Amino acid sequence: MSFLLECPHCGFRDVSEFRYGGPILSAPAGTRECSGSNLPGPQWERWFHRLGCQRWFAAQRNVQTNEVLQTKEEISGEE
Ligand SMILES: [Zn+2]
Repeated sequence: MSFLLECPHCGFRDVSEFRYGGPILSAPAGTRECSGSNLPGPQWERWFHRLGCQRWFAAQRNVQTNEVLQTKEEISGEE
């Protein structure tokens, strides 16, 4: 699968430039909706731009469509 991911520093790049870091379980307040639906909604994930700025950032992605809704700089101090 291939889709575009927007790096907060470099802009839109092919997902092959990034490394997936897994879902962020502690989503920012107000971003996770509990509608009672069983369908998976957008989730926050960590991504590492290995072929670009080599920084971690967070992306909110619709796991059903691979649509990236928003991205932001990683603010936690994890390496
Ligand atoms: Zn980048």
